[in-house]
Amino acid sequence: MSNHVSNPKTLEWQALSNAHHLAPFSDYKQLKEKGPRIIEKAEGVYVWDTEGNKILDGMAGLWCVAVGYGRDELVQAAAKQMKELPFYNTFFMTAHPPVLELAKAIADLAPEGMNHVFFTGSGSEGNDTMLRMVRHYWASKGQPQKKVIIGRINGYHGSTMAGASLGGMQGMHDQGGLIPDIVHIPQPYWFGEGGDMSPDEFGIWAADQLEQKILEVGVDKVAAFIAEPIQGAGGVIVPPETYWPRIKEILAKYDILFVADEVICGFGRTGEWFGTDFYGLKPDMMTIAKGLTSGYIPMGGLIVRDEVVAVLNEAGDFNHGFTYSGHPVAAAVALENLRILREEEIIDRVRAETSPYLQQRLRELADHPLVGEVRGVGMLGAIELVQNKETRARFEGKGVGMICRGHCFNNGLIMRAVGDTMIISPPLVISKAEIDELVDKARKCLDLTAAEVLGKA
Ligand SMILES: *Cc1c(COP(=O)(O)O)cnc(C)c1O
Repeated sequence: MSNHVSNPKTLEWQALSNAHHLAPFSDYKQLKEKGPRIIEKAEGVYVWDTEGNKILDGMAGLWCVAVGYGRDELVQAAAKQMKELPFYNTFFMTAHPPVLELAKAIADLAPEGMNHVFFTGSGSEGNDTMLRMVRHYWASKGQPQKKVIIGRINGYHGSTMAGASLGGMQGMHDQGGLIPDIVHIPQPYWFGEGGDMSPDEFGIWAADQLEQKILEVGVDKVAAFIAEPIQGAGGVIVPPETYWPRIKEILAKYDILFVADEVICGFGRTGEWFGTDFYGLKPDMMTIAKGLTSGYIPMGGLIVRDEVVAVLNEAGDFNHGFTYSGHPVAAAVALENLRILREEEIIDRVRAETSPYLQQRLRELADHPLVGEVRGVGMLGAIELVQNKETRARFEGKGVGMICRGHCFNNGLIMRAVGDTMIISPPLVISKAEIDELVDKARKCLDLTAAEVLGKA
């Protein structure tokens, strides 16, 4: 498992990385010492690095490659649109066919009463848009003091200033500061923080934190609550069953907006079109990105409920937008991606066939000596690595997650480590045979990790 490099091109690219590239979310010191792994091609659920290793991509790129790599229809859709109209903006009373057709296609899939879409270049920009739109909405309704947004500790809403502020990642807050009037409540992470409570008790407790925060801030000051239906980057945190029903009760009591960040859950990852469909929630806004284009080209957006749109229409100017809002090439790719998801009945197959299989096979790993819990929904999964299965105690300071991730990469599987939680989010098109391969490789890598951290050969 050395980082031995045999292809001279790999060394050249690593040198370029050192000389010129500032990478996102990377330990710059480590990256400089070891150099990046260079991924150069992909097909189906596999990627290849420049050392010739074929690797099963258990993360679908970064949660996004829903239809898998190598779909020529998406390439053709982009090429056709580039020839016809590579760019035009959607500012100042103009539009173009792809953006309008895409808005309609998304409205058709979205929950009832959510019929309008504001397009952005990314999920982060979708949440920036949300922040400005929510405050503009309340101000337009004559309640400008209603501007506090409640997020959750360890939630992830992107990496722009608004995204990082809405999210609850301490490491991000510590660099660059925070936008004012954003507050956070605890997350529904039973395995990590539930203590002696049962999962159901803890789910109620965590949901009640929302009500407490609303009362503490004052409902006349609270504009919205934002949450991912299932936290992704925080470690695939599937809330206890009691959590969302209780949150729904609380949201129904107070006049605040509910924003579902669907950037990961949206477009089929739970086996439903949206995470809010899976949990039966009624959002006022939904942030989208990632699976919208299967990651082939950047695009995000914000789906907005009719009542909110009615207020915005009355208010006149919305002084917000991005050069690439509704980019025609991205819109054409998104339209084709949605067509593939629909016509190939990919989400139906996830719900009925492949996700039950993935979840069943993943749970077989619960018997492994290192594994404290296996959880997941749809095509999302998490494996908690622990020192003590009963007490849920961690291996302090050993970096077990990163050790396991290293073994995975070196044995042909991409799993991401969030602390000592291993997470997966494979392409929605993964087959049962490929799921077998994923789980078999995961077990092998857990064994290698156990041998390393428990000091047994
Ligand atoms: C990835 C992600 C974002 C940010 O999207 P970008 O396209 O990276 O800006 C926002 N919310 C959630 C839940 C995400 O997973």
